[in-house]
Amino acid sequence: MAKASKGFRTEEYDCCRRTRARVLETVRKNVLSFPFIQNVVCATCKMVLKVRVYNRQELEEV
Ligand SMILES: [Zn+2]
Repeated sequence: MAKASKGFRTEEYDCCRRTRARVLETVRKNVLSFPFIQNVVCATCKMVLKVRVYNRQELEEV
């Protein structure tokens, strides 16, 4: 029964990718000035996601 507390995790899970996609969708609709840099906490696993969008072109690629 090991406790999986390895400290800071950088790997994103599916829940994180969904959270990131949702944030990016919001940015796409609402943000007019770039860069947009914000830390977002994943609602499912509580990992802090660093969301960085430097220009609008990046949003088109997501
Ligand atoms: Zn997550």
